[in-house]
Amino acid sequence: MKQTARSAVVIGSGFGGLSLAIRLQAAGIATTLLEKRDKPGGRAYVYEDQGFVFDAGPTVITDPSALVELWAAAGRRMEDYVTLLPVSPFYRLCWEDGYVFDYANDQAELDRQIALKNPKDVEGYRRFLAYSRAVFEEGYLKLGTVPFLHFRDMMRAGPQLAKLQAWRSVYAKVAEFIEDEQLRQAFSFHSLLVGGNPFATSSIYALIHALEREWGVWFPKGGTGALVRGMVKLFEDIGGRIELNAEAGQIEMEDGRASAVVAKDGRRFVADLVVSNADIVHTYDKLLGHVSRGAEEAKRLKRKRFSMSLFVIYFGLSKAQPQLQHHTVLFGQRYRALIDEIFKAKTLAGDFSLYLHSPCATDPSLAPEGAGSFYVLSPVPHLGNAPLDWSVEGPRYRDRIFDYLEQRYMPNLKRDLVTSRIFTPDDFQSELNSHHGSAFSLDPVLTQSAWFRTHNQDRQIRNLFFVGAGTHPGAGVPGVVGSAKATAGLILGEAA
Ligand SMILES: Cc1cc2nc3c(=O)[nH]c(=O)nc-3n(C[C@H](O)[C@H](O)[C@H](O)COP(=O)(O)OP(=O)(O)OC[C@H]3O[C@@H](n4cnc5c(N)ncnc54)[C@H](O)[C@@H]3O)c2cc1C
Repeated sequence: MKQTARSAVVIGSGFGGLSLAIRLQAAGIATTLLEKRDKPGGRAYVYEDQGFVFDAGPTVITDPSALVELWAAAGRRMEDYVTLLPVSPFYRLCWEDGYVFDYANDQAELDRQIALKNPKDVEGYRRFLAYSRAVFEEGYLKLGTVPFLHFRDMMRAGPQLAKLQAWRSVYAKVAEFIEDEQLRQAFSFHSLLVGGNPFATSSIYALIHALEREWGVWFPKGGTGALVRGMVKLFEDIGGRIELNAEAGQIEMEDGRASAVVAKDGRRFVADLVVSNADIVHTYDKLLGHVSRGAEEAKRLKRKRFSMSLFVIYFGLSKAQPQLQHHTVLFGQRYRALIDEIFKAKTLAGDFSLYLHSPCATDPSLAPEGAGSFYVLSPVPHLGNAPLDWSVEGPRYRDRIFDYLEQRYMPNLKRDLVTSRIFTPDDFQSELNSHHGSAFSLDPVLTQSAWFRTHNQDRQIRNLFFVGAGTHPGAGVPGVVGSAKATAGLILGEAA
């Protein structure tokens, strides 16, 4: 469907909203980006305190080619705006029994480490990598930026998905090839990075492994915030307009079409088309709840399964911790049972598995000289499952995590602590308008993916579009940048 729009409003400046705004503006559609918060980036917000810089969200940047392509779509070169630094190893994985696995993009080194752990798994890993490459080809390269508006799109993809056994979980598929339990964890935890339970998410998500092996893991010089700033500059350089502190309060309708977005401060932004990068439930419920389509769709979406939330601590230490790699995953004693509780339980588990971000390992400029910026995150149930009082639970949980880190991985953490702040499921809900405080929107199980996910174009309000984690293909930076390509394709008439 070819649009003849001349103006657009995009609600929300996450990576998805920014990518789409750039594509629309580059195509000659005068685009205004409305952002609720005082800074752009959405989950990639940046906190700064006493010389410490904290990227709030995404830190593992994969598929740089999607970003290069975005800049090219605007007739510019990414390297004139952002420098990406390679990260190696990709991740250090640590278990409580002292086992450490460095997941690096070096086949010989991987083979060596796997052979030390379980010689039989060297061959199993090769077969897993071949499988991962096949799903990467099908699920990412072929389908990642294609909008699924019609069930026939799903039917078309069906035979390949069936051949790849997409109904099986990531963990089940990994376990088919790999015997050792810790290695199984090492090659199945990736779906958690985009909010997927490895025991329930489609094995299609095993593609993340091949994606990382193919294009590497990167970190923008100056932090993920530098990538956000680069995208904002690109958008403004080509004539786009961004309004911060501009929370959309309602999408106005006229003759069944979206006609304007009214900000909570009363400003009215008239446009030929509207795109929401905000949470899907928030969009239908709060911004469109005044029309039957909004109320009905919100009701339907609220019955869906939402992904977990996160508890994050951003902290600065007066002394660097040079023993740490950039990305570390700290596995607790339980894997499956803990993940089960994170996705289903009504309470907070007594133990945790953590991801620790130590960006100064790649870019020391993110902290004062000799000091270190960090964040640690713990996946936790969303508020719909566990309606905890985080104003009470948060400080307690922070102290437990600090104790654990200090005892095992970060000596003198509390002695050297200069600054810290926490971000809880409550903050995901109140700051980001996220349903149930989910960190990744809809749970990416097969029955909520592709055609089953919120479509990139509304079924009835034909000039209302969606971009970001709640749409196809889903959460994660490559996912939402891909969703922008899919949505832009619909708007610009390049897609079916
Ligand atoms: C802590 C954390 C770590 C992560 N790590 C990684 C990682 O390492 N690698 C990776 O690939 N992915 C990672 N992710 C996932 C990734 O960050 C997200 O999936 C992705 O950034 C979401 O982008 P989005 O386009 O959906 O928009 P979001 O980032 O969700 O932004 C939506 C924006 O809409 C705004 N908004 C909401 N309502 C309104 C309104 N009414 N009016 C105006 N604006 C509104 C919000 O303020 C927000 O800025 C991580 C996520 C989190 C939370």
